[in-house]
Amino acid sequence: MEIEVKKLNALGKYEGEFEFSYSPDKDLCLIPLCSIAGEVKVKGNYSIFEDDEVEVTLTVSYVIEGQCSYCLKSAKRQIDFTSDILYVPKKDDDNYFYDGIKINLKTAVDDAILISQPYVLLCSEGCKGIDVDNN
Ligand SMILES: [Zn+2]
Repeated sequence: MEIEVKKLNALGKYEGEFEFSYSPDKDLCLIPLCSIAGEVKVKGNYSIFEDDEVEVTLTVSYVIEGQCSYCLKSAKRQIDFTSDILYVPKKDDDNYFYDGIKINLKTAVDDAILISQPYVLLCSEGCKGIDVDNN
């Protein structure tokens, strides 16, 4: 999952699309008793600017499954999340840095997976937990 900026510049391909699947580390799922099911699909596009800044829009799609955070029944949720990123060849505090030659998207993809995760996974929106009184 790399964008070879220098090479693409040489070829005059200043814009393009990418798509790949990614197996994230297990510890990337922060919800207790849950995990990311299978692979994360990553899709996006890039634009390379004259000053070598690169704008990347990427969407991560994945499924979290495990036990409901409230009642422990099995639960599953599809997540789709899009982030807009600017890669800059000079370090600053606001953007992702790259060496001016190629961009490795791993950090941005991992960040998108972390940011897009809910705090809890619920079996249904109205789940009231184990101690619900039905009477
Ligand atoms: Zn539940």
